[in-house]
Amino acid sequence: MAQLYFYYSAMNAGKSTALLQSAYNYQERGMQVAIFTAAFDDRFGIGKVSSRIGLSMDALLFDEDLDFVARCEDLRDSLGRLDCVLIDEAQFLSKNQVRQLTDVVDKLRIPVLAFGLRTDFIGETFAGSQALLAWADKLIELKTICHCGRKANFVVRLDADGKAARAGSQVEIGGNDRYVSMCRLHFKELVW
Ligand SMILES: [Zn+2]
Repeated sequence: MAQLYFYYSAMNAGKSTALLQSAYNYQERGMQVAIFTAAFDDRFGIGKVSSRIGLSMDALLFDEDLDFVARCEDLRDSLGRLDCVLIDEAQFLSKNQVRQLTDVVDKLRIPVLAFGLRTDFIGETFAGSQALLAWADKLIELKTICHCGRKANFVVRLDADGKAARAGSQVEIGGNDRYVSMCRLHFKELVW
């Protein structure tokens, strides 16, 4: 049975590395995968998923207009088969797109592995993550740690002066800001 998996974490927990390893495992067995990442995340060049430990693979881009069911049907027809769909930056999916991904699993019978942040830099949930937490078959937490050694559930956005942001756009990526994962205690001291 195909299933919808949501791998969630704070920043720098190895989400992209885990995605690339999963894609490699399928490809090594002669299977076809489709990798998607958010269209506005061009930190590493358009259409790539890159991990901090130096691995990268080409990726297709999704924006808010992409229909995952139609796109995955097209890919399956053009490739001859489609064995797994992998999605990086899945927090940026719309609620409707997560619903489409449940159709990719339930109707097309293709497993979907989505990787994303649980919360943004002020501790609020993302639309994509909220829907995935509600509808995925399997929730898998990828853990990383705060500077104090506790598990880091939260993401803090630091500006060039090292001050934590308390407001701003949820989708801002790159620039001179720095994202740091922290435990709830240290997140609250800085942000709330
Ligand atoms: Zn801490």
